[in-house]
Order: sequence, then structure tokens, then C-alpha cells
Amino acid sequence: MRYDEPLFRPPSEADSLIFQVTLGCSHNACVFCAMYRSKTYRARPLEEIASEIGRAARNAPDISRVFLADGDALAAPTPFLLEILQMLGKSFPRLRRVSLYATPQNLLAKSPSDLVALHEAGLQMFYLGLESGSATVLKAQAKGVTPEQAVDAVRKGHAAGLRSSIMVLLGLGGVDGTTEHANATAETCNEMQPLYLSALTWMPVPEAPLWRLMERGGFRLPDDDGILAELELLIRRLDLRDTVFRANHASNPLPIGGRLSRDRASLLEAVAAARAGQLRLRPRLLRGT
Ligand code: SF4
Repeated sequence: MRYDEPLFRPPSEADSLIFQVTLGCSHNACVFCAMYRSKTYRARPLEEIASEIGRAARNAPDISRVFLADGDALAAPTPFLLEILQMLGKSFPRLRRVSLYATPQNLLAKSPSDLVALHEAGLQMFYLGLESGSATVLKAQAKGVTPEQAVDAVRKGHAAGLRSSIMVLLGLGGVDGTTEHANATAETCNEMQPLYLSALTWMPVPEAPLWRLMERGGFRLPDDDGILAELELLIRRLDLRDTVFRANHASNPLPIGGRLSRDRASLLEAVAAARAGQLRLRPRLLRGT
């Protein structure tokens, strides 16, 4: 498969076959994000995608998982996505799961019946970057939605039968906003009750406008202990019934994860041990975005 680089996918989609049905991100404005700065958002021609699916089906007919890239494939028109999902269903008899990245804006723009149709055609799950539940942080980062809109969007997806994997970014409130960021993020995630919740850590990248703000002294990123303190507060405030929680992304200083309803105490113990210097943090050189 030839891809239009850069190509991103969630870590848990490492074994999925990726089809780039859209390029870039339809929002492409978040201050901390540099992922798709080099691309202009567009849906790719259906004929190209059809030919890639046909080729993949001939070479690897037993594929069971597919991820639709790029940054927010759900921005594409519903009939276009339905056609792709139908092609995938016909081409891969063992297909069990199709997932994609979605923004709250994408979900809010679709009608409930569109989302149900997409689910019935094979779409199982969306990955959504909430980043923060704080209205102040979301505004400062130009995320384009309020926490309330993000909650409505995720609930709308759930109501259509879709499963959710939500990502939040430790450090995004800066040193000054760390407490508000953690508290409000926990509160917003509690409203969402996602199936999966991942806490990543913001890694400064020179192409992101937030990097330039940081260089000018307008944003202070918490140090490792500040990130761990934020993680600790987040875990304490989360009230999730059946969510799998992960903070094991390559960007995190301390890789941990578990089911919060069962493992909260051990997660908090691990964070406390790391803060006390009893657990080794991931070396900085080995951290990545
Ligand atoms: S964070 Fe997501 S929505 Fe924001 S610009 Fe990056 S890819 Fe687009």
C-alpha cells in the first residue's frame, strides 16, 4: 500500500490495514498539533480507494481489522463513507472491525440516522481527541468546540451504537492551568463514559504554534513531576464505570493502564511510587509523539 505521508494511526490499530480515504484534517487548526500542517484536507477519489481495496483483498483476503485515515475520516460525506464500508464488507469476509479518527465537529455534523447507517454498514469505533475538558484550554488551543459540545458529540456516537476511544493530553493546561485541566478533563470524561480513555502527554514539536508560544515564554509545560501530579489528579477524579484507561503511550513518562473501576488504587500507587523516585520513568530519549 502506498501512503500519502505523514500517516498516523492510534497505537491500538497497529495490526489494522489502513486505507487513507481522506487526507489531512478538516479542522487543522489546533495550536498544539502539527500532524497534518503539510496537507490540505480532501476526500480521495472513490475509484482510487476502490482499486486499493481490490488489490488488498487479492493479496490479504483474511484481514479482520481496518482503520480509515487520515485525521478525521468521519468528515467525509456519509454516502462516500457508506460506499467504502460496503466495499470493505464485500472484499474482506473476515472483517470484524472498522474504525477511524473523528472530531466532535464531525459527529455533530452527521444526523443520527447517518451515524446509525454507518454503524450498520460496519463502522465500529471512533477515536476522538478531546485533549482537555476545560473550556479555557480548548479555547486557547483553538480546538473549535466546547466541552459540552464534545460530550454531546460522543453521546451521539454512542446512541448510534458506535464505540468510543477518547484521548486527552496531559500538560496542555500548562503549569498555571494544570489543576483546572485535570479536574475539568475528568469531569468531561465522566459525562462521556467512553469505552477507552487514553491519557497522552503533549510533546513539543517545532511545527506546532504552541512550540513558538512556549519559546516566547507564553506557555510553560509542566515537568515530569508536574505531569505525574496531573495524572494522579485525573485518575482520582475520574468516575468511569467500565472504561479501559491507558497512560502507556510513548509520550508518557510512566506507562500505566487498567480498568479504573477495578485498578484505581494500584494506578495511584504506581504514580505515587514514581513521584517518590521508586519507579524509573521512561527515559526522555525513548519518548515520542
Ligand atoms: S488535534 Fe486533531 S482536530 Fe486538531 S488539528 Fe490535529 S488532527 Fe486536526
